[in-house]
Amino acid sequence: MAERILIVEDERAVARGLQYALEREGFQVLLAGTAREGSAMAREQMPDLIILDIRLPDGNGFDLCRELRRSLRQPILMLTACDDEVDRVLGLELGADDYVTKPYSLRELIARLRALLRRAYGELSRPNPSERIVFGHIALDLEARRAYRDGKDVGLTATEFKLLAHLAAHPGRIFSRQDLLQAVWGYPDYYGDERTVDVHIRHLREKVEDDPTNPMHLCTVRGLGYSLEL
Ligand code: CA
Repeated sequence: MAERILIVEDERAVARGLQYALEREGFQVLLAGTAREGSAMAREQMPDLIILDIRLPDGNGFDLCRELRRSLRQPILMLTACDDEVDRVLGLELGADDYVTKPYSLRELIARLRALLRRAYGELSRPNPSERIVFGHIALDLEARRAYRDGKDVGLTATEFKLLAHLAAHPGRIFSRQDLLQAVWGYPDYYGDERTVDVHIRHLREKVEDDPTNPMHLCTVRGLGYSLEL
């Protein structure tokens, strides 16, 4: 699944140039031209990373960053116009993850962005088949495509395994049922029955949770979807 980057930048030419460069690198890009639009898209579209310009027509990137940080954990990279802004951007109060100063080189920006994604999601966003993912009493062997609970194979179906591995590769990230239908079942947008996801989650909970009625790992996020908590 391509990683999705939200760009909040009002200068159209800059935004388009960035979009083009990132799409060529295999990213999916969402564009917002105002702080208000950026805030809404960050919540609704759940991008993997957010690029924020500081000067926006209806506010500034500082306030937007602070606002997003209250509820979102995705990495935020800020575009600053001068080095004086850097201390503020990376300060605890704002909590951006990184910055580049305009004018920046696209190569540098992309290198930073890849590093941020790696840091945030680990190499698991492109799983190395020999890797294991461990949470609670559960270990996923990505090569054998098996899940173990306290060392015992829990007997997942191929789809259950794929669903669990997909959620576990991005701990804490919320996936909508549509996201999961696309990523796990390979359905295109708005196709497939969302209850399919619910049923598989229920089965997974029976197999991996200590108390399936009170799940600690496979969490329902009301109105949004599911996430896996470590
Ligand atoms: Ca601007």
